Amino acid sequence: MKSSFTGIILEELADFMEKRGGVASYRAKQITDWIYKKRVTSFDAMTDLPNELRAELAAEFDAPKMEVVRVLGSKDTTQKFLFRLCDQNLIESVLIPASPALYGQPSDRRTICVSSQVGCAYGCKFCASGLDGFTRNLDAAEMVQQLIDIEKQTGEKIDNVVFMGMGEPLANIKNLLRAIRIINAPWGVGIGARHITVSTSGLAPQIRELANESTQFRLALSLHGATDDVRGQIMPVNKRYPLKVLLEACDYYVAKKRRMTFEYILIAGINDTEEQARELAKIARRLSAKINLIPYNTVEGLEWSRPSRERQQKFQSILRNHGVVATLRREKGDDIAAACGQLRLQSKRAEREAQKMEG
Ligand code: SAH
Ligand code: SF4
Repeated sequence: MKSSFTGIILEELADFMEKRGGVASYRAKQITDWIYKKRVTSFDAMTDLPNELRAELAAEFDAPKMEVVRVLGSKDTTQKFLFRLCDQNLIESVLIPASPALYGQPSDRRTICVSSQVGCAYGCKFCASGLDGFTRNLDAAEMVQQLIDIEKQTGEKIDNVVFMGMGEPLANIKNLLRAIRIINAPWGVGIGARHITVSTSGLAPQIRELANESTQFRLALSLHGATDDVRGQIMPVNKRYPLKVLLEACDYYVAKKRRMTFEYILIAGINDTEEQARELAKIARRLSAKINLIPYNTVEGLEWSRPSRERQQKFQSILRNHGVVATLRREKGDDIAAACGQLRLQSKRAEREAQKMEG
């Protein structure tokens, strides 16, 4: 299968045209301008290219074939987009309006939460994305296209990109780094590396690999438990990379790179105890990490719930008393199933119900 042209990298395209011979090198930049700046959806629309070149490109690459099939939410709140991919698989992205408690600077405007896989193999017990298992990796174009399509559909300019949608981005690291390169490049989408965040459930070897990457995007670690006991209970990945192994990889990353952030969802009666807060503070101090506390979003069919606001604040104050910077997020998209994987899950269930009724 050909890949879509929103996965094109300027340097590779220039190489390809040089090998083909007879195409001036400035053409490559013209083409990436059409794709990433003017955002055309076919080679035919690249009107200043010779017909022959357009045909040749079309033989090599596909036009983007993703389709927005459902949008939830309104312009001033969190909006969710459900996409159908060319093979009929469903993924989702979330557009979040300005929020000082999110990633990056307080002045940042719009954040898009991008999916990196169809489903997820890591099966965290609290997460909707893991419920249906893993289907496949997204290619770079499918990650970039989420951003391009949402900008087109809403007319809004996106300032921040977080890889916190469906899937484990570091399990798809090759395509992820390619997508980030396109999103970051001046010839591409042009979003600064510091406005790009990758979230991982804690794949230790890949965290080490990222430490040696030259781009300065941000890394967020989904901790959700400060001891092996608690973390292992809700995140199966902790058996493969227990805290000792994981935190050593983080030490390495922090020594080589910059800071990392911890994500910690608060689940009532599971990871919201004072003891967990104290252990979490120790880990955060060891890595000079900031902590984002996120009240758990309930998922239909799962038993977990969020602690009371009081209990959330108590947890935060323990961290602060230990000298750790911790923000407590108000979950903006709760009403429209904003946590990762939930919209897709609902749609798949609805489709299954519909099929049952038809059959
Ligand atoms: N696989 C990666 C990135 C996608 S999940 C990871 O796990 O980090 C993005 C974030 O959403 C993770 O921190 C994840 O733990 C969190 N999350 C998953 N389900 C959630 C829910 N129901 N409520 C709140 N956060 C959730
Ligand atoms: Fe996968 Fe992340 Fe969900 Fe865990 S939290 S199942 S790693 S998407």
